[in-house]
Amino acid sequence: MKKFTICNRPDEQSLALADVIRISLNEAGQMENEKQPDVVFVIGGDGTFIYAVHKYMDQLDHVQFYGIHTGTLGFYTDYRDCDLEEFMTAYLTGECTEITYPLLEAVFDDKKELAINEIRIENAARTQYMKIYVNGRKFEEFRGTGICVCTQLGSTAYNRSLGGAVIQEGLRFIEMTEISGIHHIKYRSLGSPIVMCENTRLAFVSDSFDGALLGVDSDVIELNGVSRIEMHISSTHKVRMLRGRNVNYFDRLKSLF
Ligand code: NAP
Ligand code: MN
Repeated sequence: MKKFTICNRPDEQSLALADVIRISLNEAGQMENEKQPDVVFVIGGDGTFIYAVHKYMDQLDHVQFYGIHTGTLGFYTDYRDCDLEEFMTAYLTGECTEITYPLLEAVFDDKKELAINEIRIENAARTQYMKIYVNGRKFEEFRGTGICVCTQLGSTAYNRSLGGAVIQEGLRFIEMTEISGIHHIKYRSLGSPIVMCENTRLAFVSDSFDGALLGVDSDVIELNGVSRIEMHISSTHKVRMLRGRNVNYFDRLKSLF
């Protein structure tokens, strides 16, 4: 028997939906277990999904996530609240398939951080200088506010606001986008977003990242005293999502933007 838990956005609509889903799962003989679930029902927005993945980051080897969106369609969910019956039937009759998505990893000093959308190096206090290495070779020197590296799923989030390209579902790339790069006759970096193979290994090196923050999805970590940050797709962690029906990627995009 499967153990489930529910992560919901704390608004009235999501809370009400959580109650209905809990009753329906109990009636089907499924047990609730917040500490060690097999399936996490995510009710809310894409932001709620990110929160749920981070909450169970230490159990990703077996936990599956199944989402329903209150409001619009999301990138992490295939159902809206009006599709509740279909959402529950697909789950209870075992029609859902598991799809795994990569996580982005940042390594610095003895720390490791994982993200599903993106990892940013951002310095709002002063111009951040850094050397950027691609697969061990120096690619460029960057000056500006910072750098955003995203996954395919994260391409519609912060990356899109920075003018980065939206990456279609199914394509396995990472994308690096500048955050307010300084470009003039003395300093020049690529300037445009760059889409790279998913096995690319990036390194960001600077004498000082003091005052900069590492943005990891919704979390931020101070980079004082750090001089080198590596980023790549994690070889140890990935996210298991249950998908019940095929939503066309372009319908998803059209319904949101
Ligand atoms: P949040 O309120 O949880 O999310 C901010 C907005 O981003 C919400 O509208 C959320 O959608 C949407 N979103 C999250 N992931 C998305 C994705 N993969 N594709 C499309 N939209 C997505 O804010 P947070 O907790 O601070 O940060 C979570 C994420 O929000 C970050 O990873 C970052 O990508 C994004 N964000 C973007 C900006 C920006 O564009 N300037 C600024 C801050 C954060 P829902 O309403 O469905 O939850
Ligand atoms: Mn949100």
